[in-house]
Amino acid sequence: MRQSTFFASETIDAVRASGNVLRLPGGEIRLPTAFGFCRGVNRALAMLEEACAARDADPSSLFLLGQIIHNPWVNDYFAGLGVRILNSDQVDNLEDFITPADRAVIPAFGVKVDTEQRLKKVGCEVIDTTCGDVRRLWLWACRAAENAFGVLIFGRSDHDETVVTKSRLDAVGGKYLVVGDLIKTGQFADMIAGDIPDEKFAEFFPPICTNAESLEPFGQLAQVSQTTMLYSDTVAVREILEGAFAVRFGADLSADRLLFEPTVCHATQDHQTSAAELCSSGCDLVMVVGGFGSSNTRHLHELARGYVPAFFIENADAIVSADRVIAYDSNLDEPVALDDWLPTRRPLSIGVLAGASSPEIVVGQVIDRLAGFLR
Ligand code: SF4
Repeated sequence: MRQSTFFASETIDAVRASGNVLRLPGGEIRLPTAFGFCRGVNRALAMLEEACAARDADPSSLFLLGQIIHNPWVNDYFAGLGVRILNSDQVDNLEDFITPADRAVIPAFGVKVDTEQRLKKVGCEVIDTTCGDVRRLWLWACRAAENAFGVLIFGRSDHDETVVTKSRLDAVGGKYLVVGDLIKTGQFADMIAGDIPDEKFAEFFPPICTNAESLEPFGQLAQVSQTTMLYSDTVAVREILEGAFAVRFGADLSADRLLFEPTVCHATQDHQTSAAELCSSGCDLVMVVGGFGSSNTRHLHELARGYVPAFFIENADAIVSADRVIAYDSNLDEPVALDDWLPTRRPLSIGVLAGASSPEIVVGQVIDRLAGFLR
């Protein structure tokens, strides 16, 4: 598969060539060992680029079923080539847009079973960029469901990937419950352990996060994670569940009732490990670059904040000046203007993290902008 070159950056190439460090009179800018596009994203983008460039094919006959990846710059690039990007409502009415002569592109996180079936009925060409790691998650979760295990998905119930995972479980008659954080996991565990009555199930877990009506299907439980969650949190979820099952069923019997598959993908784990190494190695601050809708980039931001001041930005334009940056506020779930973000002392060591959907060209522009403050 040809790798995408459009999203490359000369600045990043130069920083990489000097050991992931850019040394400047006023300090340094450092990159982690693993950052930016993962294998799954590279593959998806290369497939879409090939489809756009196919001889005799008009890019406007290409319909993306949602964003190809969660990065606005990348989606705008393909929209600029003429590719039409359907939102989730439009995907639910895809027959209104896609004809048999068109081509439909399935994004890296896949599509719901129902969408797949309706595409078959339309009869158009389908370009399926679903990542292998996402497919592996579906397979394992569905197999567990077929073996009478309820499935606990650690992820965001409205995230594209988890929406698809839920639909795959629905299709095999499986029961699922999505928990988005350790607090929600704790509530579920308290219910298992008997500290919260079972009757409260529907109150704690509305239909967006479960297709079950009671706790009953989860007495045998298989745990998976959205591929982009924090791996450390995934392990914490497992420990919380083990404790609760031991209380309810006894330590010996609970082992047979609990299955665990670490479906956080290797790329996400590598990014998180090297981000932690960088953040703990003496950076004064960290810039996290990526789409605000990108789960794995959000988690890099969460991780970085545990070490140093960390600013999550979508692109270089967010760095308004040495005094002001427009950065994502995780409490408000929106970008806000922050003043006095850049210390005046020199030398400074600035780390730059980039999620698996962050193009190098954008990361390179951020580094160029930061370098201007350290010259
Ligand atoms: S982040 Fe992981 S699951 Fe998502 S596309 Fe990349 S490799 Fe695949």
